[in-house]
Amino acid sequence: MSETSSTTQMSAVMQTYNRFPITLMKGKGSYVWDDTNKKYLDYTAGIATCNLGHVPDVVKEAIDNQLENLWHCSNLYQIPSQEALAKKLVDNSAGDQVFFCNSGAEANEAAIKIARRYAQKVKQNNAYEVVTFNQSFHGRTLATLSATGQEKIQEGFQPLMPGFRYLPYNDIAALEDLIHPETCAVMLELIQGEGGVIPANPVWVEKLVQLCKENDVLIMVDEIQTGMGRTGTLFAYQQYGFEPDVISVAKGLGSGFPIGALIAKEYVAKAFEPGSHGSTFGGNPLASTAGLATITAMTDTDFQQKSNVQMEYLWTKLEELNTKYDQISNIRGKGFLIGIEVTGKAIDYVTKAREEHQLLILIAGEKVIRILPPITTTKAEIDQALDILNKLFAEMG
Ligand SMILES: *Cc1c(COP(=O)(O)O)cnc(C)c1O
Repeated sequence: MSETSSTTQMSAVMQTYNRFPITLMKGKGSYVWDDTNKKYLDYTAGIATCNLGHVPDVVKEAIDNQLENLWHCSNLYQIPSQEALAKKLVDNSAGDQVFFCNSGAEANEAAIKIARRYAQKVKQNNAYEVVTFNQSFHGRTLATLSATGQEKIQEGFQPLMPGFRYLPYNDIAALEDLIHPETCAVMLELIQGEGGVIPANPVWVEKLVQLCKENDVLIMVDEIQTGMGRTGTLFAYQQYGFEPDVISVAKGLGSGFPIGALIAKEYVAKAFEPGSHGSTFGGNPLASTAGLATITAMTDTDFQQKSNVQMEYLWTKLEELNTKYDQISNIRGKGFLIGIEVTGKAIDYVTKAREEHQLLILIAGEKVIRILPPITTTKAEIDQALDILNKLFAEMG
């Protein structure tokens, strides 16, 4: 402890976040309670993580049961829940094999590594460059922040990792410069989340995919925010009519239990051999159990159809909101990944919503309010949120 710490009441936690001044103690479904027992409608879902709502019964039961038996064993042993989760992921995506890690950044880190190794070991053409896009967000490790197309994320961390090139997002003309001889992969979000909730234009995606296929360059989709049912399908790429070579997943995969995954086509997956990549915790019995219960709930039932009904309902109402209030310049996104661009400061809306209306929402950049309801949210909860949003825009107008 330093000499001054007792007088300055400095937090022992590094100040890497602008934390809101509330302390959440309990969550169930779409609601959370703070330490004064105040109840909030949580339309952040832990930033697109608690997609089944808080403490979902099916996942809780599975984790409770696993807690009694085995928490962790290393990846040097067979892990049946990890096998089962991988099977579910490949059965419900374009991929064939999965590598497990603990976060989104790690999933993208693995994507970058496998793309380079695929070029160097399988194709033997020594390509190494990964093309990403302006305003993208791919994580905070040195490689993934170098992949991220935002200077504010990279500030003070120079030199960046070499091997990345950025192009403007949704810019069809700029695709002429997509592929260089050293390019091994393109990495993209189909809706840029942190960058301001910007959906990819389908015509642009089609052209991009075509160029990658023609030139034998990998297409890697970062589905960390868009995946696990958030946009109306298990993965967002499924609405764009193509098959990616590599898919990175995290956030919603474990319902709040930390887990990340890299899903790849078999020809790419084989670039990783025993010893080429690894993780101590990746896909351990507890994490895999959480993931398995989560994806089982999302795929074995009419889960997605039911949530799509609520998504459509909310979007109809958002259109009404859009025409009603002048301070809304644009509403965009897909499913339950929603951005409301406002003329003022988005953070002012977020603060007022929390302090005066007990609604938790987020920002995505200075001018965009980001709304991420749990995918399990009900019509009654949506009506409650809309009622609050109406009041909020009327008050701020
Ligand atoms: C959150 C996010 C990441 C990083 O995930 P972490 O688990 O925070 O490392 C990467 N890409 C996208 C699109 C994200 O939304």
